[in-house]
Amino acid sequence: MAITPHVPERTCIGCRRRAPRAQLLRLVLTSSGELNVDARAVRPGRGAWIHPDPECLTLAERRRAAPRALRADGPLDVGRVRRFLEQSPINDGEGPRGPTG
Ligand SMILES: [Zn+2]
Repeated sequence: MAITPHVPERTCIGCRRRAPRAQLLRLVLTSSGELNVDARAVRPGRGAWIHPDPECLTLAERRRAAPRALRADGPLDVGRVRRFLEQSPINDGEGPRGPTG
């Protein structure tokens, strides 16, 4: 088992793979209980980590991973996160365009 003590890792709530936190996007709950992106990962409180990849977001949505990770009472709307990902230059290039319905 390889151990890399100086790289803090987090588990993506979508694909469940571990990755250095620098490669993941942090999601938090706003004070009004909505899911939002914590792009700089500086907000206090509980966070959920996900790859900045719409596919991981879809997986997380399907298994309701975000409300579970954030201890939310009900389902969370991922629309804000999806818009963030669609605007992000990380996703320029390959991959489907637009909502998949
Ligand atoms: Zn992932």
